[in-house]
Amino acid sequence: MDLKPTRLRLRVTAAAETIVRGGHPWLFADSIREMNRAGAAGEFAVIFDRQDKFLAVGLFDPDSPIRVRILHAGKPATIDAAWWQARLEQALARRAGLFDAPTTGYRLIHGESDGWPGLVLDRYDTTLVLKLYTAVWLPRLAETLALFREKIGCERIVLRLSRNLQTLAEQQFQRRDGQVLFGDSPAGAVIFSENGVRFEADVLRGQKTGFFLDQRENRAEVETLARGKNVLNAFSFSGGFSVYAARGGAKSVTDLDISAHALESAKRNFALNRNFPAVAACEHQTVQADAFKWIENTAAKFDLIVLDPPSLARRAVEREGAIRAYERLNSLGIARLSRDGVLVAGSCSAHVPAVEFFDAVRRAAVRSGRKFTGLKTLQHPPDHPAGFKEAEYLKVIYLKFAA
Ligand code: SAH
Repeated sequence: MDLKPTRLRLRVTAAAETIVRGGHPWLFADSIREMNRAGAAGEFAVIFDRQDKFLAVGLFDPDSPIRVRILHAGKPATIDAAWWQARLEQALARRAGLFDAPTTGYRLIHGESDGWPGLVLDRYDTTLVLKLYTAVWLPRLAETLALFREKIGCERIVLRLSRNLQTLAEQQFQRRDGQVLFGDSPAGAVIFSENGVRFEADVLRGQKTGFFLDQRENRAEVETLARGKNVLNAFSFSGGFSVYAARGGAKSVTDLDISAHALESAKRNFALNRNFPAVAACEHQTVQADAFKWIENTAAKFDLIVLDPPSLARRAVEREGAIRAYERLNSLGIARLSRDGVLVAGSCSAHVPAVEFFDAVRRAAVRSGRKFTGLKTLQHPPDHPAGFKEAEYLKVIYLKFAA
């Protein structure tokens, strides 16, 4: 007797068919017209079109509005160990040659855009951090881990789980956020380097996977703009922008964050880079405060201000409020900019499109009544590719002001 359940088969709306055929990686629950049975987290779901032809295959997620995370669309394919291996090799090949020896921290797998929906894999020197944003990977963790260990040299793999998965992971799979899946538990934070700058990453508990690797290009840009400047780094987290600014010759750097924990980390990151004379010479201060309030109330002026807040729109309905908040924050920042000052304004809200964010910052600049020029804009770095519209979250605009 064959006890294997029949394969999970789905039929979807015409609109969803077109979207999936076009390569979009998400199938929403309300697009499903028919299912042959209930599905379990992480099992394969095969989607058929109106002619009953194979359309796509993905991973089923009964608890998420994104009900199927598409792995493959087009011709029928067998998803076996060799298929996963090839997919991993594609992600690794994409990074080949991007980073040289002074950079040991970067993203190896960036979710959907690398063909691994809801899964992120970051490298911090010899530690890998695997972060899961969907339950579909939990029943597949052992096999996924074995593949990563075989193909990527490392001494340790740490598991991180988005908050919504933590109870399920613990109760059904005995997995916890911050669990070390392979290798020794790190004694404290893990040290890695980026363009020769050394940083610590709290891989067990820190935000995201321990560091904001996605801002590498912007940090490098800030380094080139910082010589002789008094710099304010608001929403500084562990001082990533600040250490680069210091290495670039900033006279002073002020790290402003609401979290004391983040500011302690920023101090340690400065200490880690004292071997650079410019870092040792830079006056470093930390301020623990709400950035909106502090910037509004301070009398201090700065020559370079970095404003990189956390996402101000967690949901689509918060978009308009977020755009107003960005405009206000940047107005406050511009008011604290000295003559010839440079504003570096960032947003990591996927629900606020880049054009709308850039417009909001420019409106704030126009309202200031000062002359300004746009220096540049930057979006996704190559190790954080955005393969579809919803994946685009990161954008930064640089404006230089006159009197
Ligand atoms: N720019 C950082 C990443 C910023 S993450 C980097 O490149 O590494 C967002 C940071 O904003 C977090 O450290 C968080 O503690 C801080 N934060 C959140 N709300 C804040 C507020 N109202 N005022 C100041 N800091 C805040």
